[in-house]
Amino acid sequence: MKRFIVTVDVERGERNAYSKDNFSIFVVKGADRYLRALRVVDVPVEFFFNVYESTYKDEEAWQKLCLRAHLRGSEVNLHTHPHYLFDSDRKNMYEYSLAEQTEIVRVGKLMLQEWGFEMPKTHRAGNYGANLDTVAALRANNILIDSSISMGNTNCKLAQQVDSSRKIFGITEFPVSAKRDSKVIPRIDVNSIDKTDFSKIETDPIVLIGHSFNAPSFDRLIELFIILKKQGEVVKFENCTD
Ligand SMILES: [Zn+2]
Repeated sequence: MKRFIVTVDVERGERNAYSKDNFSIFVVKGADRYLRALRVVDVPVEFFFNVYESTYKDEEAWQKLCLRAHLRGSEVNLHTHPHYLFDSDRKNMYEYSLAEQTEIVRVGKLMLQEWGFEMPKTHRAGNYGANLDTVAALRANNILIDSSISMGNTNCKLAQQVDSSRKIFGITEFPVSAKRDSKVIPRIDVNSIDKTDFSKIETDPIVLIGHSFNAPSFDRLIELFIILKKQGEVVKFENCTD
């Protein structure tokens, strides 16, 4: 039986970073569609919150989204686009030193903790821009699962590091890429669930990726989740670690 992990990055997205109403349109509206669909179709989703873009004004709304995800049995994880809160000229984790990355992860974790979530279990670097220091920074912060590897993405400095054990420095890596006939599919988007022939994909588990800023409509999400459930089991990262 196929195993799927549905992941959703909750963020305004680089293209919408400075557009008006970016938070309500690209973060809240999109995440809300997922959260409402999960009331109808019971599947766990791994949400990755880019907490660094939350501002004083919208912090409560971010907290509410996290709480709703948690109440649906989904996971509240950390997504790192550090430039919103740290250096606006350095967008990727790999551009920061180990000490800086450790601090970025610590601050993100602290924000989630202040919003009532004890410990994010999993991390994803924004733009898949992780390197070995990212893995060390996660370890220092006791986050032991990572999903930042996108094969063939030049921004991802970890792509060559992962072996079949999925472990790097004791952190379990779940690439977002999959393999079919030994060829790499860089990413499978939630939006293309109905167009993908999963029977030929060799990767287990198959990680799917969605974003709040391009979330399918509520009705279509339900349809896509039903299609997915017919093809296998939707699980969490923690169900796939040793
Ligand atoms: Zn992102």
